[in-house]
Amino acid sequence: MSAEIIDGKAFAATIRGKVAEQVRHLQDGHGVTPGLAVVLVGEDPASQVYVRNKGQQTEEAGMASFEHRLPADTSEKDLLALIARLNAAPAVHGILVQLPLPDHIDSAKVINAIDPAKDVDGFHISNVGLLATGQKALVPCTPLGCLMLLRDRLGSLAGMDAVVVGRSNIVGKPMAQLLLRDSATVTIAHSRTRDLAETCRRADILVAAVGRPEMIPGDWVKPGATVIDVGINRIPAPERGEGKSRLVGDVHFDSAAQVAGAITPVPGGVGPMTIACLLANTVTACCRAHGLAEPE
Ligand code: NDP
Repeated sequence: MSAEIIDGKAFAATIRGKVAEQVRHLQDGHGVTPGLAVVLVGEDPASQVYVRNKGQQTEEAGMASFEHRLPADTSEKDLLALIARLNAAPAVHGILVQLPLPDHIDSAKVINAIDPAKDVDGFHISNVGLLATGQKALVPCTPLGCLMLLRDRLGSLAGMDAVVVGRSNIVGKPMAQLLLRDSATVTIAHSRTRDLAETCRRADILVAAVGRPEMIPGDWVKPGATVIDVGINRIPAPERGEGKSRLVGDVHFDSAAQVAGAITPVPGGVGPMTIACLLANTVTACCRAHGLAEPE
């Protein structure tokens, strides 16, 4: 193995430490406590774990955490009414609606009902538009975490060839926007891309956000490239015992690590950065709401 392993877990812990410091400063200097409201509809087990972790880490950072767990048959009208109350609540600076929502609810309608100033997930069309036009936005947490890891390792990204595999609204597209903002030359690949292997081989920065276990092998990776694996896929692991499973990324780690200059592992790479960036976005939203200087 030749690649440097990018330790997202440690990096995320550093960010959470900085956030906790900023929260103390806001409380001591201005009497303000940043507050994050997380809304979960239904009982999706993965979402429950995410929401629990978010609540826990919010409190650990000294912020106020407001959890709203609603039954799966909650009507869209009731959910929109809750969003309206949270929009109006002064103690709430960030609102996150855990996706996916049940099928009977129009996710886009709900997301766009969130006050864009409290949209710490950065999914509201206003924030999407602000990011795309180079204005001050709240930026989606997972791509923001990826960008931080890239800047930390590479410094300036200007002029680098970046390939993002995946074009979802929550990862692929905002990731491409952030790379473009940092003056990388960006290609977005997807399921209709003609020669994905060749496209990936051009990348100095390769971001995989597909949701297909280990689909990118080492021989698609340019020697020395920085590989950011966003994928989180659970696969059977009979070697660990009957019925056991394990998490893998979208990149075949062992072969890619032979070729890449640096690579994020799964788990322990991009995953922990997402919640850390969520906390950072909540502090940013709080500072903006109170007209205070924003953290760097
Ligand atoms: P989506 O399913 O919304 O998007 C997947 C994208 O991958 C689509 O654009 C799709 O293309 C593309 N794709 C699918 N198959 C192929 C293929 N064979 N070749 C090339 N492209 C392909 O997924 P998300 O963006 O929501 O998530 C992607 C992964 O990231 C998942 O594993 C998810 O679990 C993980 N994730 C991790 C997070 C974290 O905190 N670390 C946060 C969010 C997601 P097309 O548009 O053409 O269909």
